[in-house]
Amino acid sequence: MAIFAANWKMHLGPSEVRQFAQRFSAKVPPRPGQRLVFFPSAVSVEAATEAFAARTDIEIGCQDVHWEPKGAFTGATSVALAASAGARCVLIGHSERRHVFGESDEDTRRKVRAVLDGGLDPFLCVGEKLEQREAGETERVVVRQLEAACDGLSPAEAGRLVIAYEPVWAIGTGRNATPDDAAAVHRTIRSVLTARGGESVPILYGGSVNQKNVQALMARPEIDGVLVGGASLDPDGWAEVVTFGQAV
Ligand code: PEP
Repeated sequence: MAIFAANWKMHLGPSEVRQFAQRFSAKVPPRPGQRLVFFPSAVSVEAATEAFAARTDIEIGCQDVHWEPKGAFTGATSVALAASAGARCVLIGHSERRHVFGESDEDTRRKVRAVLDGGLDPFLCVGEKLEQREAGETERVVVRQLEAACDGLSPAEAGRLVIAYEPVWAIGTGRNATPDDAAAVHRTIRSVLTARGGESVPILYGGSVNQKNVQALMARPEIDGVLVGGASLDPDGWAEVVTFGQAV
């Protein structure tokens, strides 16, 4: 089943989300086997949950959580709070969390643990920076991030992950990995997951995916879906990405 996931970052407040949902739902009806995921800002998770309540093919996620269940962590969202607003999954280790907010591999491991323990599904992002790709370190970096985040997981827990391979140099830059480049990294990720019992875990590609390149990416059997930022913000544009990507 192909997954189309939208990361709205710091865009779309509750009323904009309601408008988006109305317009998008009219353009993309439910289809058997369709799995659509939206990651709104934390302030819009409940609005998104309500706006898409009639759609069993759509789930809402949170862009980040703290690993602690509660406490004095100003600005942070716990897994239980995310779930109470309707979130069913959480993005973990997005490159902006890693490289803008300084999150470590150990932070991502704690978050994966907390999300699984809280009954939600982790969407774990991994990806190399440009200098790492140019130094031939892509596989080493991606495997390190993956192994660190999966440390201590049982095979059943590993099986609940969704992975997004997002090369940092391709996010929001208009440059994207070629389908061949992405597929090669996805094969590496698949072999790590298989060794951990997560052989059927979906592996998404992310990084400047849009209406023009989605088909070539989705045509690769190694790519099980896409995680998209910029091209998911407009309901008409996102409807096109989903429709073109499913037509492969
Ligand atoms: C992202 O934020 O996960 C992302 C892939 O962004 P963009 O599609 O804008 O590159």
